Amino acid sequence: SYPRLFSPLTIRGHEIRNRILSTGHQTYLAQAGLPGEDFIAYHAARARGGVGLIVTEAARFHSSSMTQSPDLVIVSDDAIGHYARLASAVHEHGARIIGQLSHAGRVSRRMQNGMRGVVFAPSSVPENRFHTVPREMPTEMVTEIVAALAEGARRYIEAGYDGVELMASHGLLFAQFLNPASNLRKDCYGGSLENRMRALRESLIAARSAIGAGPMIGLRISADELDEGGLDQATVLEACRDLSAAGLVDYVNTTVGTMAALGASVHVVPPMEIAPAYVAEHSRRIRAVVTVPVFVAGRINQPQIAEEVLAAGQADMCAMTRALITDPEMPNKAHSGRSDDIRACIGCNQACIGHFHAGQSISCIQNPITGREVRLAGIPQSSQKRKILIAGAGPAGMKAAITAAQMGHKVILAEAGPQAGGQALLAQLLPERAEFGGLVTNLLAELAGHDVDLRLNTRVSAELAARIAPDALILATGSKPVETPVEGRDSGNVIEACDLLAGRARPGARVVVADWRCDWIGIGIAVLLQRAGHHVRLAVNGIAAGQNLQQYVRDHWAGRLHEAGIEVIPYARLFGIDDDNAYFLHGASGQPTIMEGVDSLILCSGRAPDAALEQELGGCGLPFITIGDCTIARSAEEAIYDGLVEVRGF
Ligand code: SF4
Repeated sequence: SYPRLFSPLTIRGHEIRNRILSTGHQTYLAQAGLPGEDFIAYHAARARGGVGLIVTEAARFHSSSMTQSPDLVIVSDDAIGHYARLASAVHEHGARIIGQLSHAGRVSRRMQNGMRGVVFAPSSVPENRFHTVPREMPTEMVTEIVAALAEGARRYIEAGYDGVELMASHGLLFAQFLNPASNLRKDCYGGSLENRMRALRESLIAARSAIGAGPMIGLRISADELDEGGLDQATVLEACRDLSAAGLVDYVNTTVGTMAALGASVHVVPPMEIAPAYVAEHSRRIRAVVTVPVFVAGRINQPQIAEEVLAAGQADMCAMTRALITDPEMPNKAHSGRSDDIRACIGCNQACIGHFHAGQSISCIQNPITGREVRLAGIPQSSQKRKILIAGAGPAGMKAAITAAQMGHKVILAEAGPQAGGQALLAQLLPERAEFGGLVTNLLAELAGHDVDLRLNTRVSAELAARIAPDALILATGSKPVETPVEGRDSGNVIEACDLLAGRARPGARVVVADWRCDWIGIGIAVLLQRAGHHVRLAVNGIAAGQNLQQYVRDHWAGRLHEAGIEVIPYARLFGIDDDNAYFLHGASGQPTIMEGVDSLILCSGRAPDAALEQELGGCGLPFITIGDCTIARSAEEAIYDGLVEVRGF
């Protein structure tokens, strides 16, 4: 049991049933700037799952902050009915709902008719993420923004929301006003801290005046932007103390980092490399200077971690946004003693913020239903109970077994190796990626709750299939390394990445990692070997190491490679190796280049489908489908998606 986590919290007379918060996060589920059916179903699922408070994502309230992204917009009274349907769906399940009001200021990429639009900020100070050089807002525009924010707040409350939240976090507009490095104004909004706080203070006062005494008004703020030239802890503490003492905020919702800096942006959605609950010491400091409840975010992915944060007095409420993205039922499970059934977020960032940065609706690699609550509602029950043999217990095979069992089939899941998990078992061996193994743990826990006959060390063959006599087959046999044409690859110097990770090969002292994929494998192996004392060079067949990773993770690891002193060679295409050298074509012109002094070359060349079993069984006459890597080499997300969606339709 989690006594503190499941104790109610009352803010301005609004009782919130527990201390679990879903923070405002962009979902890209909005339709024409409004919450539609998918958006409502997404949040209703979390409310039904027991979350205490949902803060819905940043809505644009002023024309100077509009983008072409599918964000929420709250600039017209016509929107009120749409927001009201969302508020009502959340309330129906007992959760509270608060709406964010956001202006990104200089952290914007505004497009108008395919052209770059003007970006307005407190001052004309360039920004590092979108590389904008903003124009300074005229004083009248600040006044106009304050008034527009108050109108946005009124619309939320007329829609039935319990409150509104202003964003001074992540280097957004109010943070830019607060920060003397981005606010060089000479008018009453710049200069002293009192002046730099003026836009925020006026907005809080205007919002209160527009919504009356009842609803909550919260402040989201980065306790420290953790960046050279960023908003620092001392300024934030003073601002929070002042706003709390003046009675202008009902809670402070803390995070760290800023979107406006490449390195510090990793804190916006911290990945598994960052320690759980690492922001809690920051929120504790804020809690010591304010008289209102303080919330904290940052890798709180399990109820026991949240309970510890609350017990330590570091916060009054814990943001568990990705934990809820992964498992909307997490609060109900924790509350009813079913913690072992919780599908924990592993901090991979691949399908939540990863989808968002790719311009797609968010989801979760472990839970394909997230973001598709309408389309994938419920598991269809099969009218005909079949005996299904599944070959391969990687993520695709395991999810397929769960889905088939839920549909009412009798399922035998055969794995050739001694362990279920497939490629995820290797991925967890990369430095600071151990949590990736949680994906396997979670699938195994889910499998255990279903009637699935899991047989390890069992290779499916025509003979085995004949003996088991299934009604249908699902082939999830995974992948094998791509056979890259490299001259001299049969020399003893060449090691496949999977053989290295599995401990089947040991590299020499001087290593070149040849990375065709520009994802985790090359970076991870380079860092792994460097830490083991090898001299490492990383040759990538692309513009940068990790170019195919989620942006925050990529930027974080680019810095780590630099700190480790690993030489990264971009645009390097391997074509040969001999006893002591590796041969590359380098740059756009394909300039031949020799890398001398190479004891071992590690090939990270990607994966190809392993279709051997499909060929062996193709003529056996049984209905079958292929899923996961043996169809086309896929990510864990795509494999698990196959295991749900392809099997439902089989
Ligand atoms: Fe967590 Fe990864 Fe799912 Fe995002 S995609 S919610 S980080 S498990």
